[in-house]
Amino acid sequence: MIEQQRILATAIPGPASTELHQRKLATVASGVGTGLPVYVEAAEGGIVRDVDGNQLIDFGSGIAVTSVGNRNQRVIDAVTAQINDFTHTCFMVTPYEEYVAVCEELADVTPGDHEKRSALFNSGAEAVENAVKIARSATGRPAVVTFEHAYHGRTNLTMALTAKNMPYKQGFGPFAGEIYRAPMAYPYRWPGGPQACADEALSTVIDTVHAQVGEGNTAAVILEPIQGEGGFIVPPPGFVAGLADWCREHGIVFIADEIQSGFCRTGDWFASDHEGVVPDLITTAKGIAGGMPLAAVTGRADLMDAVHAGGLGGTYGGNPVACAAGLASIETMREDDLAGRAREIEALVVPRLRALAERTGVIGDIRGRGAMLAIELVSDLEAKTPDAALAAAVNAGCHSRGLITLTCGTYGNVFRFLPPLTIGDELLTEGLDILEEAFDAAL
Ligand SMILES: *Cc1c(COP(=O)(O)O)cnc(C)c1O
Repeated sequence: MIEQQRILATAIPGPASTELHQRKLATVASGVGTGLPVYVEAAEGGIVRDVDGNQLIDFGSGIAVTSVGNRNQRVIDAVTAQINDFTHTCFMVTPYEEYVAVCEELADVTPGDHEKRSALFNSGAEAVENAVKIARSATGRPAVVTFEHAYHGRTNLTMALTAKNMPYKQGFGPFAGEIYRAPMAYPYRWPGGPQACADEALSTVIDTVHAQVGEGNTAAVILEPIQGEGGFIVPPPGFVAGLADWCREHGIVFIADEIQSGFCRTGDWFASDHEGVVPDLITTAKGIAGGMPLAAVTGRADLMDAVHAGGLGGTYGGNPVACAAGLASIETMREDDLAGRAREIEALVVPRLRALAERTGVIGDIRGRGAMLAIELVSDLEAKTPDAALAAAVNAGCHSRGLITLTCGTYGNVFRFLPPLTIGDELLTEGLDILEEAFDAAL
């Protein structure tokens, strides 16, 4: 049991972490970066303890993964019981109930009450790859439309879908074909401003796809209803719903990538729920299983079942231990109303961010929903000049004070907040105090 308290025992990183980091540099491929090289010994709830005895407040959840908290008791019990039963058979060889039960839960919690099917995988990128395979197989069409600022993963097909070159794509081409990029409804940076974005974005996307791709060639449109790595960009009301309607009109599969925004993170089960959007296919991962690797594609039975038997799968996909963790996590979200908790977090954090913006004059935009919140840092409020250097300085200041924070955004100038949904108000408030200190020190 880790006390839910920040402790600074040494400098961060401390000597034991620094020694481990030397070993890392000598043996781990340098392409695998680390944002904050404190080596973790244990973690629970909203606290991460390192090998020097420092206890850091967690505003990252391992990138929106440990939404139910680290060392969640339901997850521990379920995983322990499952490991004692068996660890692997391969669902494609000899199946087991846990996989089926996760698919039943996915049918229940994802948007829409139509008939659904799911397939389980190991990572978000793998889920996205499979969603594209399913959409192409079901429609017989090749093209896939993605968006500016999108992030969908690091495999070959998902790199092609991802927008940002550095660090995700640089030197890794050639990329998969038949991927087309549409403008993103980015209210803060839309030429003409947020109102123009609300008025124009959908028709701009539709015109772009019509002119450059052709509706009849388009298998799928894939969108993060709130973009993640690209900067927590929230499209204006009506954009996602309008896009989904337009897709349906043209027989295009609308894929919502809710790998980061899903599972109570935004104050609903899914970000799509906020506007009553029912995606044809939805990809999930990250928050689904309390840190165990599990991912899924869930969607309309007619699309999912269009693929020939044996066309989907993988050795580890829907591993029984990961499924057990997934079932326990979903139960926790339902029983403990973590969607409601995400809305409480928003209510606590946003006024603090507004006050910070007022006081510092370097925050151009505050956005997000629930416990998926971000601020965009600029050096000039009028010109909206991205200030990545300030974001990096504040990030480092938070780290050295014992707060785990993450940046994101195409221009590297967005600060994102992704605390575990089980974090207490005290740690949340203390984390925000530290953020303020880090701003004051950096400005
Ligand atoms: C993280 C993420 C992915 C990729 O998931 P991995 O598990 O890292 O492969 C895809 N889409 C979105 C929206 C993500 O946030």
